[in-house]
Amino acid sequence: MARVVTTNAVSLLGVHGALVTVEAHVCNGLPTINLVGLPDASLREAKDRVRAAVSSCGYTLGSRRVTVNLSPADLPKTGSGFDLAIAVAMLWAEQNFPKNELKNWAFFGELGLDGQIHPVKGTLPVVATLAKYGIKKVAIAPQSIAQARLIPGIEAHAFSHLSALIRTLGGDCSITPEKNMNTASNWQGSKSSTESYFSAEELDMTEVQGQAEGKFALEVAAAGGHHLYFVGSPGAGKTMLAKRLPTILPPLNQVESLAVSEIHSLAGTFDAQAGLLRNRPFVAPHHGASMAAIVGGGTNIAGPGLISLAHKGVLFLDEAPEFSPRVLDALRQPIENGQIVLSRAKSTITLPAQFQLVMAANPCPCGNAFALNRSCECSPFTRRRYLQRLSGPLLDRIDIQMRITAPSRIERRQRYQGDTSKTIQQRVIAARQKAKVRIGDGPWETNSQVTSRVIQSWSKELEAPCLRLLDQAIERGVITMRGADRIQRLAWTIADLKGMNKPEKAEILQAQELRNGSVKNDY
Ligand SMILES: [Zn+2]
Repeated sequence: MARVVTTNAVSLLGVHGALVTVEAHVCNGLPTINLVGLPDASLREAKDRVRAAVSSCGYTLGSRRVTVNLSPADLPKTGSGFDLAIAVAMLWAEQNFPKNELKNWAFFGELGLDGQIHPVKGTLPVVATLAKYGIKKVAIAPQSIAQARLIPGIEAHAFSHLSALIRTLGGDCSITPEKNMNTASNWQGSKSSTESYFSAEELDMTEVQGQAEGKFALEVAAAGGHHLYFVGSPGAGKTMLAKRLPTILPPLNQVESLAVSEIHSLAGTFDAQAGLLRNRPFVAPHHGASMAAIVGGGTNIAGPGLISLAHKGVLFLDEAPEFSPRVLDALRQPIENGQIVLSRAKSTITLPAQFQLVMAANPCPCGNAFALNRSCECSPFTRRRYLQRLSGPLLDRIDIQMRITAPSRIERRQRYQGDTSKTIQQRVIAARQKAKVRIGDGPWETNSQVTSRVIQSWSKELEAPCLRLLDQAIERGVITMRGADRIQRLAWTIADLKGMNKPEKAEILQAQELRNGSVKNDY
């Protein structure tokens, strides 16, 4: 007689999860195991892992004709996380174990050949999906339990071996795994190789000496969400400044916190011990990193790229002209709409990638063009060509472009420290609140996000001298129309920071300096 058992699992497409039903159907016939429902290569391997793991618990699968169907069939499924759900469904169907409990459970874990349960990346979005569907309990590897317990409304249970899970679910298994098998070891191996994108040490703006202009640029960038481009000699302090941008950005709110944590869970770079992530990530890819590593996709299609790991945080490209034009070009889409679409053979994956871009560049290949005590060996032609590696369309989207010079001896002696990160962060939060009142409800949070049309409508309120200032700059060819739009955005942010209701002449001039910040004028 045919017998059907179903179990619950989750399919992840990026960070979007969907409930998947694993259905095992057993009937008399030639002893075979068939997996259907769009399985990819790793899912086909699941068959062998499941068979071996179950035999380590004392059972032999496939003594009759077994069909395992993962539905909905049109949903792409990938990865080894379905092992547990498949094993339980098959075992229960073949052994006729009582199945009343199964509907309350979902399963997420990879099986070792010896029956051990291994963690799979993406615990957080998987468990969040299950909670959304009202599933009561989830069985998961012990290494994933800290992440799973961050999601309220669902009981997470850790199992290190399939045999223990079988007993808990009311099945029959007298096998106890040997103690010398240590699941923790191989997982920790992969963990030590993961990089942290959250600063362990406490960084503070007061550690940056001098650089009053650079700090002001950073504060405006934080308040208005503006992308930023620093040009300066090596050692001028570009990286020091950039690394401290997360310390003055507002902390993540609850929704953002879960979204960022889910992406890092998917990438395997999330340490759940301290709860959901509260700080903004700072991600600094090397210019030699591959397109797939930076943007995502490639063979590891489901894995987020570095731009997604920088979601809601800072993406820092040091030595930006050294990055491949393809990579720089690929940044334009996420800068426009906050996400990246990765295509694969049968489907596309969309991952969030709403980062604040900070680029830094040396002024020339030798790096000495602006240096006080060193001389530049590059020809004017080489210098111009070096910075022109950054395409116009990309630079058009970078509101703040300024030159950074190392603090002079006098500045260093004055020991200018400026405000602490905490103080600046308070100003940034206040400025963002002021902007949000003006922006109103809707998807936009910052002055950098609103459309040009909105900026134009705001700027109708500007006094005549302000508008004249912009018109003159356009007429003289100092700025383009697009540049004028960027300057107005910056001027509104500066006004927000100062608690003013609208920018005046001084704010327009300050904005102009941040925009043209002596990056271009020299060439
Ligand atoms: Zn040079």
